[in-house]
Amino acid sequence: MTDVLLINPGDRKMTFQELGKDFAAIEPPYWVVSMASFLRNNNFSVEVIDSDVENYSPEETAKKAIEIKPKLVAIISHGSTPQSSTLNMYPAGKITKAIKQLSNIPIAISGIHPTALPEKTLQEEKVDFVIIGEGPNTLRYLTEAIKNNERNFKKIQGLCFYDDDKTLVKNNAAPLVENIDHTMGTAAWDLIPMEKYRSHFWHSYDDIKKTQPYASIYTALGCKYNCSFCQVNALFGKPGMRFREPENVVNEIGMLVEKYGVRNLKISDELFVNNEGRHMKILDMLIERGYDLNMWVWSRIDTMKTKDLERMKKAGVNWAVYGIESADVNVRREIGKPIRPDVEEIVKATRESGVSVVANYIFGLPEDNMESMQSTYEQAERINAEEANFYAAQAYPGTRLYTQALKKGWKLPEKWSGFSHHSYDCLPVQTNYLSSADVLKFRDDSFYKYHTSKKYLHMIKEKFGQNAVDTINKITSVKLKRQILGD
Ligand code: SF4
Repeated sequence: MTDVLLINPGDRKMTFQELGKDFAAIEPPYWVVSMASFLRNNNFSVEVIDSDVENYSPEETAKKAIEIKPKLVAIISHGSTPQSSTLNMYPAGKITKAIKQLSNIPIAISGIHPTALPEKTLQEEKVDFVIIGEGPNTLRYLTEAIKNNERNFKKIQGLCFYDDDKTLVKNNAAPLVENIDHTMGTAAWDLIPMEKYRSHFWHSYDDIKKTQPYASIYTALGCKYNCSFCQVNALFGKPGMRFREPENVVNEIGMLVEKYGVRNLKISDELFVNNEGRHMKILDMLIERGYDLNMWVWSRIDTMKTKDLERMKKAGVNWAVYGIESADVNVRREIGKPIRPDVEEIVKATRESGVSVVANYIFGLPEDNMESMQSTYEQAERINAEEANFYAAQAYPGTRLYTQALKKGWKLPEKWSGFSHHSYDCLPVQTNYLSSADVLKFRDDSFYKYHTSKKYLHMIKEKFGQNAVDTINKITSVKLKRQILGD
């Protein structure tokens, strides 16, 4: 009998509508396999169901979970980006309900979203325990207690649950893991179907038919900044970063290359380009190993040192993702991410070094009006990055923007699916001047206009060839349906 079954929830159809079928990336659930590794190292037997990659319905997931006969089910609602935790609550809720219809196996749930809203999660979802905080030690002691048939969970740090007499117990989060390498070890990649994951379409523009194999790993946890819209630090309780040893990171990448044939690799750290000595050490070690990697990494404009770009490219960093967010000084100041005057120069230097750029923009931040959104769009056109992600701002639980939206009485989505940027019921947060519908329409129009413009498609064809252009044309031919826009 398995001690604990970890489930990665997912529903690509809900999250991305028709784009989920062929174009959305399917990322390996790093938090799940990392947690699995930790539990295995503590002598528990662990199995994993990745219902996202398998495209299982909640009922299929529940049936498979029951067949495994675990003593405890833990739904790990993390996902590939911080906000995925909230989006994954929609399928997570359906899976827990389906399991409870078939069995009374105890269910725990962990992730950024449950940490931000523990009582609400406990009240609304069919779960017995909510794990507050990053979770490994809480899950370990909960599994141990259940395995030993103990009923007293009150001493377990980070646990939120109803006691036998129905009183709410909400313990403080366990202290953060100090040595991530030592505690978590190399992720348990052997527990997931590595051949089934695929990269973002743009990540593989240089060979659009080779989106597989694909992997994504963390080399550090957290972020030292505190932007108002970002959920990243909600899990850890405060801004800050903890780092893995470069040698361990490179060894794990080596294992992914040699055992699973991985070339497409995402460094999932929300801020990889941050501590020059450390990230360049990792990249220099990768150069020494001579792997033919196709990597993408996150950077801020103000943490990128352009003198390093040539070496980054040599190590296999083919893509840098910058959170540019807005071209407007007031909008940026209000979100706690002050503007840099040299945004366009840094992007230009990045591209001149051969590293392609994904530029992320957010419309509908609190100080946005039509003029500021238009100036952001115009900056996107000037930059003409190899990929531009246009988001409509969402007030995710655990962010300062969420607190701000509640205080102002701004309407938030009724279901967690409404927090998805691409879902039918997507409901972005309103701004001080614009409605949610204004923002969403501007976002959808901008996405279409940018990706169908002659200037952009010409650049893509010159750089990546006609296959990449054909892929973009297929994506722009899919019209997302939007409830608040009357579809
Ligand atoms: S710098 Fe990026 S990862 Fe860090 S808090 Fe801001 S948006 Fe989030």
